[in-house]
Amino acid sequence: MKINFKMVCFLSIAIFTMGCAVPQSNDNNTFNSTLWLQTASEYKANAIQAYNSAAHNIRQAITDQSWTAALEQGPNYSSLPPAIILDVDETVLNNSQYQAQLMMDGAAFDPETWNQWMAMASAPALPGAVNFINSVSAMGVEVFYITNRECKPRSEAGPPCPQETDTIDNLLEVGIKEVKPENVLLRREKPEWSSEKKSRREEVASRYRILMLFGDDLGDFLPDVKKNITPMQRDDLVNEYKDNWGVKWFVFSNPIYGSWMGILSDPKSSYLKGY
Ligand SMILES: [Mg+2]
Repeated sequence: MKINFKMVCFLSIAIFTMGCAVPQSNDNNTFNSTLWLQTASEYKANAIQAYNSAAHNIRQAITDQSWTAALEQGPNYSSLPPAIILDVDETVLNNSQYQAQLMMDGAAFDPETWNQWMAMASAPALPGAVNFINSVSAMGVEVFYITNRECKPRSEAGPPCPQETDTIDNLLEVGIKEVKPENVLLRREKPEWSSEKKSRREEVASRYRILMLFGDDLGDFLPDVKKNITPMQRDDLVNEYKDNWGVKWFVFSNPIYGSWMGILSDPKSSYLKGY
C-alpha cells in the first residue's frame, strides 16, 4: 500500500488528535522517527556498525602517536595520554522513551519533563556502546563524555548540577564499569560552556590525545555548525573531512532532533525537493 501525505495526516490526527497542515519540525512529525528508534533492527545494526568500526581501529589509534581525531588538538600532542570523547544522548543512551511518552501525552518537549526523565536514569544504552567503552577503558584510554544536558539546580538549596549525578547513574546502570565525574562535561557546568562543544573539546585536548569522537550531531565533531549555516555548507564540511568518518569520527542516526533541523528556517517544508 502506498502511503501518501494525506494518509499520514489522517493517521496523525487519528492517533494523536493533533492537526496536520504542512510538515514542520513539531512533535507531530516525530512519530515515524521515534518508532524507528524503538523498533527498527536497522537502527541497532547502525549503532553496532559504528562501535565495531571504532573497536577495529582503536589499537592503531593508540599505537600511532600522530593520530588525533580532534580539530582542537594543539601542537605537541603526541606524548599526551590517549582519550576518546563521546556525546551522551542518542550516542551512548537512547532517550526514545522520553520522546514516545511526550507523544502519548500529547505534550511537547519541556525542560521540566526532560529533567524528570534524566532523574529516572533509566535510558537504555545504544547497542555496542557498553562493551566498546568498557574494553577501551581496560586498554588505558580515558573516556570523556561531553553532553548538552544542562546543569541546573532543581531547588535553591539543591546541588548545582544534579543532572551530572543522574547521567553518571544512568551510564553505570547500563553497565559501564567506571564513569569519572570529572570526565563528564555538561553544558553550563562552567559558565563559558555553551551548547557549542568546541571549548570543552579544547579543554580535553589540552591534556589528552583525542583518538576518536562519537556523536549524533555534527556539532559533536566540528565547531560552528549549529547555527547560521546552510545544509549545503554542512554537507561540504562532511565531505571535507570524509576520511575521518568511520575511522576517527563515528556518527549515530538521530531523525528526531538535532542541529540538522535547528539550522533549517521556517517553513521547513520549503526544503523538500520533488522531481
Ligand atoms: Mg546527542
